[in-house]
Amino acid sequence: MSEKPNPTELSEGIDRALEALREGLDARFASAATEQALRDENAKLLGKKGELTAVLKQMGAVPADARRAIGEKVNAVKQQVEATFAARLAELHRAARQAELTAPPFDLTLPGRAPAPLGHAHPISIVRDEVVAIFRGLGFGVFDGPEVEHEENNFTLLGFPPDHPATDMQDSFWTTSNHLLRTHTSNIQVRAMKALEPPMAFIAPGAVYRRDDDATHSPVFHQIEAFLIDRGVSLAHLKGVLAEFAERLYGPGTPVRLRPSYFPFVEPGAEVDIGCVFCKQADGTRPGCSLCKHTGWIEILGCGLIHPVVLEGCGIDPEQWSGFALGMGIERIAMLRYGIPNIKLMFEGDPRFVAQF
Ligand SMILES: [Zn+2]
Repeated sequence: MSEKPNPTELSEGIDRALEALREGLDARFASAATEQALRDENAKLLGKKGELTAVLKQMGAVPADARRAIGEKVNAVKQQVEATFAARLAELHRAARQAELTAPPFDLTLPGRAPAPLGHAHPISIVRDEVVAIFRGLGFGVFDGPEVEHEENNFTLLGFPPDHPATDMQDSFWTTSNHLLRTHTSNIQVRAMKALEPPMAFIAPGAVYRRDDDATHSPVFHQIEAFLIDRGVSLAHLKGVLAEFAERLYGPGTPVRLRPSYFPFVEPGAEVDIGCVFCKQADGTRPGCSLCKHTGWIEILGCGLIHPVVLEGCGIDPEQWSGFALGMGIERIAMLRYGIPNIKLMFEGDPRFVAQF
């Protein structure tokens, strides 16, 4: 057991410790070259485990009559620490500012960063713009609609029966019990018919969504829908527009044929083939090519006369008005146009792919 120091020795010890701290103070703070180093040094003195704090902790053992005098000395040293710290801090700040001001100026003549390679229109955008331009040239306007659609506009008013496979969870992306990501751009003709009085002629491009995923199907793809409603519209008008469209998109003399087909919202309905753009053997004189499966024809879109029930459901009197609608997949048109073998190439975002068009 060490002996307890007598009060006089204790007071003298504290005195010496305070004096040592005071003397070393300037040098300690002066040697701190950064603000952080300065703050660390300050904490070594005044922090919870600091040297001055340690001295203070001995005060309890100092006799009452000496305590006041020592207390004053401790306070004086503490104030000196604080003043020295503040002075050194101001000095460091001044030096930093000075360094900033005297640093060499920013060199505007240095070479810049090389610009990123320029982007390029995606084949889907190119083909979409081209198809839209062709129909605008034929007098069609552009109509837009939402991608999240009520089932009424996407299915019911287009004549899809409630048990149609497209309405199934397996085939469509439902967001609520009666909203889904539109499965075709035909929701736009419903919206146009509800909102406007005929006559009308619109083209409606946009993204559509289905649960398909293979080499020729993607869960998101793009369609363009064109529709026209007027008095006395017949299949002849539809075929005329199709022939004009095929010539403008694939060149003069491109043959077109309609094959009967079924879509719930048209009557009659048809699928449209154009003469194979690769082998140009639609006249059947030679056996075609593998891209047209040796038929000489390639399917490009579906169409038909708008079903009277659809017109009526959207508030248009089918006794007075009739119309046609046609819809095509933009990816399919682009794949045929550019000979792209896999639809996924169009959605991978590889700039080397896009730069080819
Ligand atoms: Zn062919």
